[in-house]
Amino acid sequence: MSNKIAALARANVRALTPYQSARRLGGNGDVWLNANEYPLAVPFDLRQQTLNRYPECQPKQVIERYAAYAGVTTDQLLVCRGADEGIELLIRAFCEPGKDAVLFCPPTYGMYHVSAETFGVEHRTVAARDNWQLNLPAIAAQLDGVKVVYVCSPNNPTGNVINPDDIRQLLEMTRGKALVVADEAYIEFCPQATLSSWLQDYPQLVILRTLSKAFALAGLRCGFTLANAEVIELLMKVIAPYPLSTPVADIAAQALSEQGLVLMREHTRQLIANREKLIADLRECGCVEQVYNSDTNYVLARFTNSSLVFKNLWDQGIILRDQNTQPGLSGCLRISIGTREECDRVIAALQALAGASVSREQA
Ligand SMILES: *Cc1c(COP(=O)(O)O)cnc(C)c1O
Repeated sequence: MSNKIAALARANVRALTPYQSARRLGGNGDVWLNANEYPLAVPFDLRQQTLNRYPECQPKQVIERYAAYAGVTTDQLLVCRGADEGIELLIRAFCEPGKDAVLFCPPTYGMYHVSAETFGVEHRTVAARDNWQLNLPAIAAQLDGVKVVYVCSPNNPTGNVINPDDIRQLLEMTRGKALVVADEAYIEFCPQATLSSWLQDYPQLVILRTLSKAFALAGLRCGFTLANAEVIELLMKVIAPYPLSTPVADIAAQALSEQGLVLMREHTRQLIANREKLIADLRECGCVEQVYNSDTNYVLARFTNSSLVFKNLWDQGIILRDQNTQPGLSGCLRISIGTREECDRVIAALQALAGASVSREQA
């Protein structure tokens, strides 16, 4: 019976491995450092009570506030159900299944692959160079038939900003051929790196943003797409009629108020301070081979025995994100920046582990 139902599904859906989100992977932790969330809940009020009515498709106050925050006009902006929906809308509007392709540069965020696969759109990969910057000649050689190029900057999980001169070259070589989508999910941790002022020069540039990371609202499911009006109009054709519920718009507007922005910037400063201390402490740990610099709210580190570290900390309720199977990231774990106490718990656990292996060697 169930076999027959599965046979009815599209072949690419049958073959699909769904995105292994931190929530799906589970775990029984009290220190959650695997989804790049803000570590503490920020309180909001539910002010709009008109739940008998359908919500606005593009809630005016949210759009106006985010446009002001991001320095774009309201017709250059779309709000939807997280940056993940933005990734998907672009494929829906621009890629013909079985004909067009998307391109991205691993190691990077996993949803570009999953979204392309879901829609039966070819995904082409060009590995990042050793310093995790774009390999432009290799990208140029692969652009035939590509409609969307995803560039995650700063990149998840490596934490580095992509060289703006390289993105400019990419924009030059894709003019009139393909969209270049800069995923700026972590841009609040390095606001000077945003490409938003380039929208006027490049009609095919798209920028993805979210309230899930620095704004501490991963549970809200609210993100933004910044692009020229022509692109936004096309995305508006394929978006659901009511992408945001009334409570989501209500809370998003509060998060984007003057007071909300002040709070977000305070939180960001604190996390950056915690990050720099965590990086310094990690570099003193015996079991750590390399710690990469980060412009985000997470740190990538290479361990001498990453699976042992991952499991040992998991068993103590400290949940990290294993990146070991991503290309170029063998032995790497990603650690989200939590509270100072949570960062210190990680370090204490690593020191205990290093101490244990030293005493085993001595025994
Ligand atoms: C977290 C993340 C997203 C998804 O953001 P949502 O708004 O929660 O859907 C998109 N891109 C990158 C690079 C991310 O890390």
